[in-house]
Amino acid sequence: MVSPSREETDDLPDKDVAKDFYAKYEPKELLGRGVSSTVRRCVEKETGKDFAAKIIDISGDIDDSQGLSLRETTLREIQILKLVAGHPYIIELHDVFDSTTFIFLVFELCKNGELFDYLTNVVALSEKKTKGIMKQLLEAIEFIHSKNVVHRDLKPENILLDDDFNIKITDFGFAKVVKPQERQFELCGTPGYLAPELLKASMYENAVGYNKEVDIWACGVIMYTLLVGFPPFWHRKQMIMLRNIMEGKFEFCSPEWDDITELPKDLIRKMLVVDPLKRLTVSEALKHEFFQVVTTKGRIFDARKTFQLGMLCVRAIVRLKRLKYTPEPLSIEVARNYPYRIKTLRKVVDACAFRVYCHWVKRGEVQNRAALFENRPKIELKQIYTDAMNTITT
Ligand code: ADP
Ligand code: MG
Repeated sequence: MVSPSREETDDLPDKDVAKDFYAKYEPKELLGRGVSSTVRRCVEKETGKDFAAKIIDISGDIDDSQGLSLRETTLREIQILKLVAGHPYIIELHDVFDSTTFIFLVFELCKNGELFDYLTNVVALSEKKTKGIMKQLLEAIEFIHSKNVVHRDLKPENILLDDDFNIKITDFGFAKVVKPQERQFELCGTPGYLAPELLKASMYENAVGYNKEVDIWACGVIMYTLLVGFPPFWHRKQMIMLRNIMEGKFEFCSPEWDDITELPKDLIRKMLVVDPLKRLTVSEALKHEFFQVVTTKGRIFDARKTFQLGMLCVRAIVRLKRLKYTPEPLSIEVARNYPYRIKTLRKVVDACAFRVYCHWVKRGEVQNRAALFENRPKIELKQIYTDAMNTITT
């Protein structure tokens, strides 16, 4: 990690504007940019620990679609962050500094950045990795919903990865406290992740509005994208994309889906249901078969079968290890006609032959043992024999 260069520090507020922040933290390099904020790594001077500071410029404050100023929406974000604090998969707010022109939110640092960038690097995730991430995501959402909060901007850019690649949901800028039956009508979020009822709420006069189910729809879009690398609803013309969302028109036909099993597709189908009342709730999604403990692609874990398989593997390995010491099967036919072919017999034959003819093998020339089994007489020996015979006869 590096210190910020001169031009990179342009977004940083003057020291006198944010004295308290600078007294406690040393700002470092840029980590990300949002619509009205920049996020920088910063070091807590007292402890030397790294954090991420979200610096929100509220100087040119304008009201949003609800008439809320940026200061008000930031204060709402802080209030919600405190409400959902203490969950392992939700970002932890460490400190807050409020000045007339800037608000600083100091968060725990997620060194592995956005899930979005991670996915860009790896293109698509395996079913196993997707299962891990989706389980954490749904558990965090279950917690958020239990606090009567709806996030409304779930997407891979707002899901960060910590040192151990566990997720941390962040950016509660659009989050809102809602009563269970209270209907919402504001249009907020990111186009490709918007639920049909949220779009209808902002388009039609007689729309019934929306509630927490919009987060499950976004989870369906995220899960689809994680598995194949591209989103379920996309079209060059945004109007067509929005129409496809409202009709729930998406497919599993591209070749990328060929290797993906039925269970994750089933879960996606049940999260991307147009009618929010028929869509899975977060608890139902977590109980889906896809999240049962599995060993291999889509197979359900069975302790007895796994144990039996383990035993078979151990027995096979032991057999393979012993193979070296197990005698080769030997037929009488082979033993009688080709005894020298068999390793153990070969040793016996050699030993016998050596015992009979060892006096022919000179000391220190044991390698000449092979000569003992040569059928043809050696030329030099033959010559010695002939010379000897000649001497005898003359
Ligand atoms: P905005 O509301 O403006 O979208 P976010 O809270 O989403 O702001 O932050 C913008 C980006 O900054 C994130 O998408 C991410 O890349 C980076 N970021 C935010 N918080 C952290 C953090 N705690 N650790 C690392 N990077 C972060
Ligand atoms: Mg964001």
